[in-house]
Amino acid sequence: MHILVVEDEPTLARQLADALTTAGYVVDTAADGQSGHYLGEVESFDAVVLDLGLPLMDGITVLRKWRNAGRTMPVLILTARDNWHEKVAGIDAGADDYLTKPFHMEELLARLRALLRRAAGHASPELQCGSVVLDTRNARVTVDGQALSLTSHEFRVLSFLMHHQDQVISRSTLTEHIYAQDYDRDSNTIEVFIGRLRKKLPEGLIVTVRGLGYRLACSS
Ligand code: CA
Repeated sequence: MHILVVEDEPTLARQLADALTTAGYVVDTAADGQSGHYLGEVESFDAVVLDLGLPLMDGITVLRKWRNAGRTMPVLILTARDNWHEKVAGIDAGADDYLTKPFHMEELLARLRALLRRAAGHASPELQCGSVVLDTRNARVTVDGQALSLTSHEFRVLSFLMHHQDQVISRSTLTEHIYAQDYDRDSNTIEVFIGRLRKKLPEGLIVTVRGLGYRLACSS
C-alpha cells in the first residue's frame, strides 16, 4: 500500500516515513502544500497523512483541490492542539479522520489501517483469502496458521491484492502501489514477485487474467 505524507516539520516527517515503512507501506513525502498537492494529483496513493499548517499551500486547500478533482483516497489530517475550527474545516473539506498533534505513532498507524480497510470494504483487521490470513495490525501473513516469510516487496504485492480481493489488478496498478514515486519502476519485476508469491501460497490463489493482470481468487 502506497502512502503519501505531507508534513513540513522535518523530524516528524522522518518519523512518520520510518514508522510507515517499518509497518510495510511504501511512502512518499512532501514538505510543502504545493508539492504535496502535485504528488496527490499525479500518483496513486492508498491513503494520505496531511498536515494542515503547510508552507506554499495550506492543507485545507490541498484537500479541497483533490476532492474537487475527484481524488477519493482516504485522507487523515494532522491538526494543531486546541484548534477545533481546523478540525471542522478539514472534515468539511473531505478529510476521513484526524489526529491532534502531538500524537502517538501507534494511534496514527491504527487509524490508517482502519482507513485502508474501510476504503477496500473490509471491516476486520484480519484479511482472509481461503487459508491465507493477513493481519494488518502486525503485517503478518499466515497460511493454515503457519507464519509465512515474505520480503518487503512480496508483502506489498500480497497486501495490495488482499485489500482488493477478487478484483483484477493490472501490473501497472501494482507497480504504482508498491514502489515510491522516485523509484526506478519496472512492471516486469511484478512478474518476479508474483512468481515467488505463487511458490509460497496455496496453488491457484493468484490467478493470471490474460492481458489484464492478476486476481486473488478468494470467493470460491
Ligand atoms: Ca506544519
